[in-house]
Amino acid sequence: AKAAGRNAYRFFETSMNTNVHNQLQIMQDLRLALERKEFRLHYQAKYDAANRRVIGAEALLRWQHPERGLIAPDHFIALAEKSGMIVPIGEWVLNEACRQMRTWYDAGRTEWKVSVNLSAVQFAHDNLVELVKATLERHRLPARCLILEVTESTAMQDVETSLSILNRLAGLGIDISIDDFGTGYSSLLYLKRMPARELKIDRGFIRDLADGTDDAAIVSAIIALGHSLDLHIVAEGVETEKQQDFLTELGCNSLQGFLLGRPMAPEQFQALTTMQVDP
Ligand code: C2E
Ligand code: CA
Ligand code: CA
Ligand code: CA
Repeated sequence: AKAAGRNAYRFFETSMNTNVHNQLQIMQDLRLALERKEFRLHYQAKYDAANRRVIGAEALLRWQHPERGLIAPDHFIALAEKSGMIVPIGEWVLNEACRQMRTWYDAGRTEWKVSVNLSAVQFAHDNLVELVKATLERHRLPARCLILEVTESTAMQDVETSLSILNRLAGLGIDISIDDFGTGYSSLLYLKRMPARELKIDRGFIRDLADGTDDAAIVSAIIALGHSLDLHIVAEGVETEKQQDFLTELGCNSLQGFLLGRPMAPEQFQALTTMQVDP
C-alpha cells in the first residue's frame, strides 16, 4: 500500500507540472503538512573510517502523509523550493535537528555533530545566519555540534552572496560541508574560497568503486585534493564491506551508507548507537 501511495504521489507530481491548479494544491498541502506536524526527520549515522565509531548523523526529511504514507524528499523538495515553502520547512528541520542533537548531547554524545541539508532558496533569505544563531541558542547547543551541508549548486547561485553568508556561518563555529562533491560545475578556485571543513564525495563515485577503475582514481584524487586543502573527507553511499575497506585504505575520514545504517527514525537510531560501547 505504501509503494502504491508513493506512485500515486509521483503521478500527481508529474501532472502537477502542467497544471496550475495542482501546483496550488501541493503548496497548500505542504503548508498544511507543516501545520499538522506531518514532517519527520530520519537520521543516518556517519562514522569514523578508522575506528568505525559513530561520530554523528545526517538529518533527512520525510513527509508522513496520512494517506500516502512516508514520502521521501525527492518527491517534494523541488516543489517546496519552487513554492518558497522550503523556507518555513527548512526552519522546522533546523530546529528539530538541533533539538534532537541536544538530547544526544545530554545523553553524553557531546562530541557528535548533526548535519542539516540547506537549500539554495534558504540562502536567498538574508536572515539565515540569525536564524541559525538563534536556533543554537534556543537549544543551548555549541556551534561545533552543527554541520550545514550545501551542494555546489546551492552556493553557485550567487557566489559572492553565498560566500559571505557561509563565512558568517563558519564564523559562528559551525562546520560547512560541501555535499555531492564532483557532480556540480564548480571550479577549484571556488573550492579554495569556500570556508568548508568537510567535503562529501557523491555516491555516484562510490557505487562501482574497485581497484584500478576510473572511479577509484577519481576518489583517490578527490581525497588527496581535499586533504591538501585541510578538508575532512566523507564518502556517502557506502553499501559494501569492500567499498568501506577501500575508502579507509585511501584515507577517507568518515563514511556513511546503508552498510552501517539506513536513515531511520530517532528511536531506531537510538537502538543502533547504544550498541556502541563507550571507551
Ligand atoms: P543527500 O543530502 O545527498 O542525502 C543522501 C541520500 O542518499 C539520502 O536520500 C539517503 O537516504 C541516501 N543514501 C544514504 N546512504 C545510501 C546508500 O548506501 N545507498 C543509497 N542508494 N542511498 C543512500 P534521501 O533521504 O531520500 O534524500 C534525498 C535528498 O533530499 C538529499 O540528498 C537532500 O539533497 C534532500 N534532502 C533531504 N532532507 C533535506 C532537508 O531537510 N532539506 C533540504 N533542503 N534537502 C533535503
Ligand atoms: Ca546531504
Ligand atoms: Ca549527498
Ligand atoms: Ca543528493
